Amino acid sequence: MTRTATDPCFDNQAGMLNVEQAVAELLQHAQPLDARERINLMDAAGRILAQDLASPIDVPGFDNSAMDGYALRSSDIETARKDGLEIVQRIPAGSVGEYLHAGCAARIFTGAPVPEGADTVVMQEHCRVEDSRLVIEHAVNAGANIRPRGNDITAGMTVLQTGVPLKAAHIGLAASVGITAFEVFRRLNVAIFSTGDELVEPGTPLGPGQIYNSNRYQLAALLQAQGCEVIDLGTAVDTFAATRKTLLLAAEQADLVITTGGVSVGEEDHVKDALESVGKLTLWRIRMKPGKPLAFGRIEATPFIGLPGNPVSVFVTFLLFARPFLQTLQGRTAIEPQTYPVRAAFSYTAKQRREYVRVRLNSDPTGGLVAETFPRQGSDVMSSLAWSDGLVEIAEGATIQDGDSVRFLPFSEWAS
Ligand code: AMP
Ligand code: MG
Repeated sequence: MTRTATDPCFDNQAGMLNVEQAVAELLQHAQPLDARERINLMDAAGRILAQDLASPIDVPGFDNSAMDGYALRSSDIETARKDGLEIVQRIPAGSVGEYLHAGCAARIFTGAPVPEGADTVVMQEHCRVEDSRLVIEHAVNAGANIRPRGNDITAGMTVLQTGVPLKAAHIGLAASVGITAFEVFRRLNVAIFSTGDELVEPGTPLGPGQIYNSNRYQLAALLQAQGCEVIDLGTAVDTFAATRKTLLLAAEQADLVITTGGVSVGEEDHVKDALESVGKLTLWRIRMKPGKPLAFGRIEATPFIGLPGNPVSVFVTFLLFARPFLQTLQGRTAIEPQTYPVRAAFSYTAKQRREYVRVRLNSDPTGGLVAETFPRQGSDVMSSLAWSDGLVEIAEGATIQDGDSVRFLPFSEWAS
């Protein structure tokens, strides 16, 4: 396929897309899955919520004590400080006390319902008990230490919205309002395969000119971390026929097909031709480093993303392009990568392309975060990824001086 400078996918000047253009273009083709399933709370971690959840109850459901202490009427505070109040009942969490009359106090524990009549709780550290009478030793405000009914959530309130990836906090929240089951989007099935006759599997001795296939395992792990089902089709040999056959096999079973390698311009790169014979291909040269070539298209109706071959490029292009695409398919809403400002502990001048530098974060003496670069930034240097906490993004042509504020993209949010 020949691309010209007038093609809308390309920047006229350089014949290349920038990162945002490529993401925007990709996302135009991302259709959320509409298949859903009902699951239980205990199976919800990592799933994407496919309905809004409203609370059927107020939380807390009753006025309750925020402290271990004593419940009383605020009109009795003065008496309690001078003469003391008779302690007439004991209310542990889970039991309900009786009406509290004037001149009386109730022993009460955290989370227990405040008895009718009482409107204030005094913490036990501020009291003493003499002959079963409560004496308050510190000033206390009327209404203190009570968590009122509905303080957190009121009945009918939407507590979780469709598209949320469910993590511990969301699951705990659903449980706290008594919800047991709900609809989530079906897991995305992603078929992957590697290309390259130089690749052998870990566990096999390396022959001359051979390397271990790292992309296969790295990509599977990246996808699993996104909650996808991985359909692993191994490695396709570097021929047009094998690549074509594997593309068709992948598309039959998957919602999305992702390959690595074989999308450069060499004669051994068969993904482009094979894809064009079974669907449609757009090949982008993206003005970024690492990871320039990216292929996108479809195999019959199944979307396809062809990542570059170098393992570091795979990692970075997965995070920037494949991840937002598949998250949209998954039904997720917020897909923008989170970035944080940190200080550069390095100087760097980017060429006329966006550069993503692998960095580790350290604390400076003032408690701020500084980013140190890995010394070897080649796109084949796998140890750089394992060493790093994330990427620093450097704009096209920008010069970064030691101490400048830079944008940091943590792997912890993307790749785990
Ligand atoms: P390609 O785009 O196929 O020319 O690959 C670019 C570079 O990435 C070559 O040096 C390949 O050997 C390397 N490469 C491709 N696929 C893999 C893989 N699955 N694991 C490790 N390295 C790879
Ligand atoms: Mg290759």
